[in-house]
Amino acid sequence: MTQFSYCGGVLFCEDVSINDMARNVGTPFYCYSAEALEQNYRSFVGAFDGLDKEICYAVKSNSNQAVIRLFANLGAGADVVSEGELRRALAAGISPDKIVFSGVGKSRAELTTALEFGCGQFNVESRPELELLSAVAADLGKTATVVFRVNPDVDAETHDKISTGRAGDKFGIEFEQIGEVYARAEALEAIDARGLAVHIGSQLTRLDPFLAAFEKVANLINDLRMQGYSVDRVDLGGGLGIVYRDENPPALNDYAEIVQTVFGDMKLALTFEPGRRLTGEAGILVSEVIYVKESGGRRFAIVDAAMNDLIRPTLYDAWHDIDFVVEKTAETPLSPIDIVGPVCETGDVFAVQRAMPEIDAGDLLLFRSAGAYGAVMSSTYNSRPLIPEILVKGDQYAVVRPRLDYDQLIKMDIVPDWIFTG
Ligand SMILES: *Cc1c(COP(=O)(O)O)cnc(C)c1O
Repeated sequence: MTQFSYCGGVLFCEDVSINDMARNVGTPFYCYSAEALEQNYRSFVGAFDGLDKEICYAVKSNSNQAVIRLFANLGAGADVVSEGELRRALAAGISPDKIVFSGVGKSRAELTTALEFGCGQFNVESRPELELLSAVAADLGKTATVVFRVNPDVDAETHDKISTGRAGDKFGIEFEQIGEVYARAEALEAIDARGLAVHIGSQLTRLDPFLAAFEKVANLINDLRMQGYSVDRVDLGGGLGIVYRDENPPALNDYAEIVQTVFGDMKLALTFEPGRRLTGEAGILVSEVIYVKESGGRRFAIVDAAMNDLIRPTLYDAWHDIDFVVEKTAETPLSPIDIVGPVCETGDVFAVQRAMPEIDAGDLLLFRSAGAYGAVMSSTYNSRPLIPEILVKGDQYAVVRPRLDYDQLIKMDIVPDWIFTG
């Protein structure tokens, strides 16, 4: 992202020096570029010019209120997967009719809340969910607008843990069962069945799996129409990959072209649910090196961020490019080093035997492409306070989530009066 580039040997986010920011905010912290977020959104929308579409930002990739609000201001709806995300989207000003409720395990309480708020679309993932939604909607005297998430049995060719569209994955309704479920929906008065949805995984770097899934869904829609059902919507999910290392993710125009080819003449309203593609490259994580040590024939840089702040490397063996905030003046040869956090887990590793110039204690490092599935996945494991999120716009920046202080952290627990406290 050009919004993160060096000026005079120091990394800037737009017009703000990350070095100055680190001094003011303290490390570690996340930093997002508003311009990058906006640019990503505008490019996404622009690729589908002329199509009947709704862009529902996948809130789970980065659910900060400032980020959701920024997309809302640009016209986005939201794709949410829990009541918490639903409430976040509403709080950030997204109108309920532009909210899509996805997820394999929506509870009765969540369905009730969503119906009460007037949620625009429920992406139903099973027959029992359909029955429960119907019952809850009937009780409330409401009608639920529904599309059914199809499991197309397509391998997204991405990391195992973020593949969602293979037979045997927990997501969606089996291809063969859609007709039956659709027929059932037609018989339910509180259900307005409008079409299908598909989302086969995340960080897809090739178009073929999208094409395969989309073609299956298009065929299914034709079948349903031939059986006399009206189908006027299709939700194509998210999943477009970004650059973490040397990936070559599909260009938006090429993706748009397959959408156009498959669905262009089908008279369907399209929904897209991009997450990572909008937020991933628009954010970095900044961390300071605490110690450098040698042990067992390996060199380690121990940094002040950890797996509780950014779990992707631990969870998915994910690669993040790592650079210095202040470029080294004397070029040193690259040598392998493990970059690790302070958490008491061997899995708390950001990079294994990464070829890096000489790293010293006190150096500021940045982890690129950390805007998606970073801060949202953080925890307070090892009683480490949640770290700040900073949003930059031009030469100004704001703390959009403060560092959790230790008192707040401890006050979350309650000691019952039957435990002796002296
Ligand atoms: C996670 C998710 C998305 C967003 O995926 P990205 O890879 O971040 O674009 C969209 N739709 C559904 C149903 C999801 O679960």
